[in-house]
Amino acid sequence: MRQVAFYGKGGIGKSTTQQNTAAALAAQGNDIMVVGCDPKADCTRLLLRGYRQTSVLDTIRELGDASNVTLDRVITKGYGDVKCVESGGPEPGVGCGGRGVITAIQTLEKLGAYEEDLDYVFYDVLGDVVCGGFAMPIREGYAEEIYIVCSGEYMALFAANNISKGIRKFAQRGYARLGGLVCNSRMVENEIELVQAFAEKLGTHLIHFVPRSKDVQRAEINKKTVLDYDENLPQASEYLSLAKKINENERFDIPTPMTQDELEDLMRAFGIVD
Ligand code: ADP
Ligand code: MG
Repeated sequence: MRQVAFYGKGGIGKSTTQQNTAAALAAQGNDIMVVGCDPKADCTRLLLRGYRQTSVLDTIRELGDASNVTLDRVITKGYGDVKCVESGGPEPGVGCGGRGVITAIQTLEKLGAYEEDLDYVFYDVLGDVVCGGFAMPIREGYAEEIYIVCSGEYMALFAANNISKGIRKFAQRGYARLGGLVCNSRMVENEIELVQAFAEKLGTHLIHFVPRSKDVQRAEINKKTVLDYDENLPQASEYLSLAKKINENERFDIPTPMTQDELEDLMRAFGIVD
């Protein structure tokens, strides 16, 4: 069982890329569970064709005790039989979101969700906060293989660099490796070359370049992953290709983050800032 997490700046396309990749891996014959770790509980919507899975934390609150929870209440199968879970979060302003995520994961573990014959567990983690509560899936040793979703935009690379610092910290204690960068294109000039150069500096690789496409939004409006919406679209092939590369990936690195000056120099060299 491989436990994979996608990190990256908020809005960069983590949930979209993750669900499309999970759908593609499922279509390629893998057994998958996706654990959404965003209090918004919107990480499995495309896989579930719009169905809103009640979160683990809401179910615990509703039943009054984690011991009353059963797997069928918190897991719903979506496209390709992907098992979909939403951890949920604390009420806004109360408690630590990361702690809630771990409570949800531990509840799943106790109920035997990880004992089934799973090829992959995906964690879809909120935002770019690696040092706070949302590093929990890494810190607690659940997420072992991290992919950073980025683009050629400065803020996306800035966030990716910070996330690498977090991964490096945890990697030195033994767990968590960087599997690579996924460039989710924002149509920046020389984007592939820039992200490739950035990856090299970080001591990792660009695993796949996902083009920007209106078909992603078309599928989203229809509450589906691209593969589910129309498997013949070029964008469906992109996610199938990313899934294959993840499946065959053998590069798991401890990243070497850049200094702020090095990052700015790189942006300058590619004419992104002057
Ligand atoms: P995150 O989970 O990182 O906050 P989302 O996955 O919710 O980001 O993506 C934000 C928006 O970007 C979504 O509405 C989605 O449709 C859009 N998007 C993501 N990837 C692509 C892409 N490759 N092409 C076009 N739109 C995309
Ligand atoms: Mg998201």
